[in-house]
Amino acid sequence: MEAAAYGVTSERISPQARQVVERLQDAGYTAHLVGGCVRDLVLGREPKDFDVVTEARPEEIRQIFRNARLIGRRFRLAHVHFGREIIEVATYRAAPADDQEGDHGNVFGTAEEDAFRRDFTVNALYYDPSEGVIRDYVDGLKDLADGWLRVIGDPEERFREDPVRMLRAVRFAAKLGLRLTAEGRALVPQLGPLLRQVAPARLFEEVLKLFQAGNAVATHDVLWEHGLFAVLFPEVAEALGGAPDDESLLAAALANSDRRIAEGKPVTPAFLFAALLWEPVREQAIHAVAEHTPSAEAWQNAAEQVLREQLKVILIPKRFSVPMREIWSLQSRFERRSGRQAFRFLESKRFRAAYDFLGLRTTAGELAPDLFDWWTRFQEASAGEQKTMVEGLHERGEKRPRRRRRRRASGA
Ligand code: ATP
Ligand code: MG
Repeated sequence: MEAAAYGVTSERISPQARQVVERLQDAGYTAHLVGGCVRDLVLGREPKDFDVVTEARPEEIRQIFRNARLIGRRFRLAHVHFGREIIEVATYRAAPADDQEGDHGNVFGTAEEDAFRRDFTVNALYYDPSEGVIRDYVDGLKDLADGWLRVIGDPEERFREDPVRMLRAVRFAAKLGLRLTAEGRALVPQLGPLLRQVAPARLFEEVLKLFQAGNAVATHDVLWEHGLFAVLFPEVAEALGGAPDDESLLAAALANSDRRIAEGKPVTPAFLFAALLWEPVREQAIHAVAEHTPSAEAWQNAAEQVLREQLKVILIPKRFSVPMREIWSLQSRFERRSGRQAFRFLESKRFRAAYDFLGLRTTAGELAPDLFDWWTRFQEASAGEQKTMVEGLHERGEKRPRRRRRRRASGA
């Protein structure tokens, strides 16, 4: 297939990727760009990164590139380093083997065999920039033109072999506007629960890819549409009454995070999961308070319980779950503003994330806007104005913190 006919030219790929392909070819091996980058080029999008496949074996790849490092235990592949850019170079593989968890080992094959072990036809296009051709063994170009995500091979077999492919389908559908074919769609509600058997650490990575790519709102819709949201987040789905809620804090958070990503701002996993799991935490805490559990205890128990259940499906590493819980627990601090409390809170490291979260709760209608407005003004106010704002609270009846009597140690 003439690549130029699809608008795919070698100027559109990174010079480093082109160099890697050319050096492999000069050494006598066939080599192609493959996967997401070719798909994105055909769609007229800018690829996120460039993956190379070749008939050269890992050891041979290493001998060609001084700047290559072999990685992976089961599937050995090479990373060719160019300063900060890394080009991943893999050897064609045969046999159905999923990329991360298969135990088939290295079974090398031809480019054509390599195509058949990939997930979707649109992800199995091979571009040779030197010859200017796209090799398409599975009719991926036609599916791409028609907007179809078609599983390669028998969809049921391929989904059972690696259930993460169902999540990948959601990701590509949301990101690229492609649609899973009817045969694939029909299987997902039935096979979706197999995701519970996937390693929770891998699901964490997949969930981040789903929600941190700048189209979290669309992804969330497609997850519900395929019945997968409740598989990944059973307690959240239950707290939402089994249907997505456009007015929830989660909906506001996802819209907000897409906006942030569009502006080049970071979205942290701690904040994302704080928003994802908030609904059941809130529901359980409110329930416990109504049953006379003291508020702090009620919120703490709810956070613990929801996190414990969620970890059975998705492994949220401690370095994210700890700050996530902090975002929740700091919510009560916004109500305590008198004396030095507001000043101290403002200086604390987690203020910003907690404040942004308060903003989402306000947007979602959980709180009247006054509290968030007050904190917004407080941050922008001069020292004198801040003092007046805090004193104003006292006049309006907010309780002053009880002074702790502390005897000054004499002579200290
Ligand atoms: P993105 O642009 O999001 O990186 P991608 O298609 O490049 O999308 P990767 O996860 O980078 O996705 O994977 C690269 C390629 O490897 C895919 O295009 C696909 O051909 C193959 N692949 C990845 N994961 C699987 C899987 N679970 N099963 C089969 N093939 C897979
Ligand atoms: Mg990729």
